[in-house]
Amino acid sequence: MKKPEILSPAGDLEKLKTAVLYGADAVYIGGRNFSLRSRSKNFSNEQMKEGFDFAHSRQKKVYVAVNVFARNSDFDTLPEYIDTAAKAGADAFIISDPGVFAVAKEVAPKVDIHISTQANVTSFKTVEFWKNIGASRIVLARELNFEEITEISKKVSSIELECFVHGAMCVSYSGRCILSNALTARSGNRGECSQPCRYEYAIAESTRPNEYFPIEEDSRGSYVLNSKDLRMIEYIPELINAGISSFKIEGRMKTPLYVGAATSAYRQAIDDYFENEQKYKENIPQYIDKLSKASSRDFCTGFYFAPPDESAHIYSGKSYVRSYDFAGIVLDYDNATKTAEIEQRNKFSVGDEVEFLCTDGRSFVQKIQNITANDVSVQSAPHPLQKVKINVCCPVAPFDMMIKSVSSSS
Ligand code: SF4
Repeated sequence: MKKPEILSPAGDLEKLKTAVLYGADAVYIGGRNFSLRSRSKNFSNEQMKEGFDFAHSRQKKVYVAVNVFARNSDFDTLPEYIDTAAKAGADAFIISDPGVFAVAKEVAPKVDIHISTQANVTSFKTVEFWKNIGASRIVLARELNFEEITEISKKVSSIELECFVHGAMCVSYSGRCILSNALTARSGNRGECSQPCRYEYAIAESTRPNEYFPIEEDSRGSYVLNSKDLRMIEYIPELINAGISSFKIEGRMKTPLYVGAATSAYRQAIDDYFENEQKYKENIPQYIDKLSKASSRDFCTGFYFAPPDESAHIYSGKSYVRSYDFAGIVLDYDNATKTAEIEQRNKFSVGDEVEFLCTDGRSFVQKIQNITANDVSVQSAPHPLQKVKINVCCPVAPFDMMIKSVSSSS
């Protein structure tokens, strides 16, 4: 049985490197022009090349999202963009629009094409259609259940099936939604969703603009559109048995901490499962603990077992849980003096208890005994991106992350 691929989000170059180092087999990125996540930082052409080289030197792949629904004017620059990305080393293009598909086939016929989840592929016939015209992989719609995915994998051979296994759920049909465009002028269909489906709504009468009448679907409030996030780490065997070859983690807009923690948790889960199923089962609490290091909503299993019912909704406006701050990232480590150079991301101080999440899967807790900045002893590191040195009890490496419990924030 082949190990499934872990496919992690990479909204910028730092997240690409984080994903690769924390165990992703492949990452997906967007360029500046034709990706659906236009508000994530995305990649310039030079950064894309650096990202490809970084991943390829470690035998990892990079897929480039070109999943915009193209307008006429997009085709003026699209061929050049695809040509540049192909020549720089893209391993695949993620596409939803047949016009973009045609251009990619013409300009870069040797680069694989993955059909985006935005194309809403929900049946074996549609999978066959895309396969017959040259797609090598389908990112199935999130709305399919295990039974349907299994049937597709049995009926259509020689095509890879990719499914989301972790991250935010969208309550519209595979991302097709006008809510964000209507309320915040940021179109979900052009990658700019501001997630207004999570807002807490009330009714106001036009002549009394400051009086809000709560909408109460039941005694707990209203929760029409506020979905829990997807988490399938407890169901690795079911995902594999359904024939899914790529496990996709959602979240190109999310933090490096989220990318590292989620990638590392799924890496460990899959590796444990292939080593020994019992070991995997026993370690499930560890994977869940690692996922909890990054902020998230509550979790559900999406559509895999059955269409989400009311248990998949969040019943309050406060949907995000953030237990840890991303305090800093390791730049370097001197084994002789056991000193780590850290780049600050959130304030930390002498006396704080911090935890290191390491790229090799280890984690450990320690108290900060000292901080030096420019060889001067200081009590805290208050400035964003400030470079300081601290003593660390166990070896660390570049890109290991230092986190701090929110309750112990200095
Ligand atoms: S507003 Fe909500 S439902 Fe609409 S696209 Fe954004 S996440 Fe999906």
